Amino acid sequence: MSNFDFDLFVIGAGSGGVRASRIAASHGARVAVAEEHRVGGTCVIRGCVPKKLLVYGAHFAEDLKDARQFGWDVPDCKFDWDRLRDNVLAEVTRLEGLYGQTLENHKVTVFKTRATVVGPQTVRLADGQEIRAERILIATGGWPHVPEFPGSEHAITSNEVFHLDTLPKRVVIAGGGYIANEFAGIFNEFGSKVTIVNRGDTILRGYDEQIRDRLLQISMTKGIEFRFNAPFQSIERNADGSLTVHLDNCDPIQADAVLVAAGRVPNTKGLGLEEAGVELDDHGAIKVDERNQSSVPSIFAVGDVTNRIQLTPVAIREGQAFADTFFGNKPTLVDYANVPSAVFSHPPIGAVGMTEAEARNKLGSIRVYTSDFRAMKNVLAGRNERALYKMIVNAATDQVVGLHMIGPDAPEILQAAAVAVKAGLTKADFDNTVALHPSMAEELVLLK
Ligand code: NDP
Repeated sequence: MSNFDFDLFVIGAGSGGVRASRIAASHGARVAVAEEHRVGGTCVIRGCVPKKLLVYGAHFAEDLKDARQFGWDVPDCKFDWDRLRDNVLAEVTRLEGLYGQTLENHKVTVFKTRATVVGPQTVRLADGQEIRAERILIATGGWPHVPEFPGSEHAITSNEVFHLDTLPKRVVIAGGGYIANEFAGIFNEFGSKVTIVNRGDTILRGYDEQIRDRLLQISMTKGIEFRFNAPFQSIERNADGSLTVHLDNCDPIQADAVLVAAGRVPNTKGLGLEEAGVELDDHGAIKVDERNQSSVPSIFAVGDVTNRIQLTPVAIREGQAFADTFFGNKPTLVDYANVPSAVFSHPPIGAVGMTEAEARNKLGSIRVYTSDFRAMKNVLAGRNERALYKMIVNAATDQVVGLHMIGPDAPEILQAAAVAVKAGLTKADFDNTVALHPSMAEELVLLK
């Protein structure tokens, strides 16, 4: 009989932790998981899921306008933030219940409390109870980073943005990454005045330059304002409750809400990791090897807390690979090549593989194909908004090494096309595929 209380103790019931718990349990392990907030983690509770529902809600603003060109008599419509917010939060609660149910069905013991590491095979719950487990998995995710400046306490982050009492009339968003561009689109469609303030002059660093420029151009046409090279100096609360944002190199901006979206840091503070001998990197991320094992052989980590690729599907794969390797006798490594990604901006972006700049640096000789077009629906709607698809091809092998798209439904199209890139298909393979007409996706097989 094992002298451990559990075979596996997971700290954090988010995407990676839940997957690892459930799979390890299905392999016959005795599993417990501790969660101090809500089961589901960032993606389900305060990230991808409620964000996507707000993106859907926001898009109706354009759909309702466009419907008139398609023959519908649409009266002037009013948007009710409270109703959408409450419906989204109710859906989040429903999903939280499903996640809890899944753990219960797999006989995973759930401790709804904070747990910290007190030794290589021991965790302590908030009430002082100590539990011994043969292996410990840290899946505590990340937390929004708020740079230090006077008045930063007046800002909100993506943790709070889903709970706003009222829709702010004027929103300033600090940062130029995923969250900044997604929420700029959301608030702008709801009718708020949005200003993105960026410390540098680049939005969505890491994405292809032409695609980023297209988003910037469309966002500005839609009325979103940008301030570049403008680090925050301070935020001041005014007598009427509004905020004044002071910036380097720019005039102050008046706002009703300031959203800071300046990246997310690994959630390792106060977990007892360093005391237990677990090595962290300079950003506080747990250093792990390709099998997700830390410097302490019985302690493992998956997901954002390792700061590899901060995406839910990656955390899920890491959790699955960990459980299969150590409890299913099925050694599995996660393949990080050609991970597709999307930005749910208005319009959205989808991308996989190398950008043009990366491919030029790595491969030297490349061919670049683009299609710059107005979606049929936008033409009839009178919406002067052009989509851009871009394919990067290795000139030596004809292999497609990158696909980058901005336009309606780009993430939906890109997910399918990413299979071809992942499989190493060539430009000739795309050309040999008959177009599906009329669609936007057909542009991918018609690139000249
Ligand atoms: P991002 O890393 O996407 O962007 C951070 C932005 O903040 C960058 O513009 C960066 O500028 C800026 N920044 C960083 N540090 C500071 C600072 N100290 N002061 C001022 N500005 C700063 O982070 P997000 O917060 O938008 O999102 C966090 C992560 O969550 C993403 O990296 C992504 O992995 C994930 N996510 C994924 C989504 C999706 O898949 N659709 C949606 C939302 C989040 P610079 O470029 O100069 O570094």
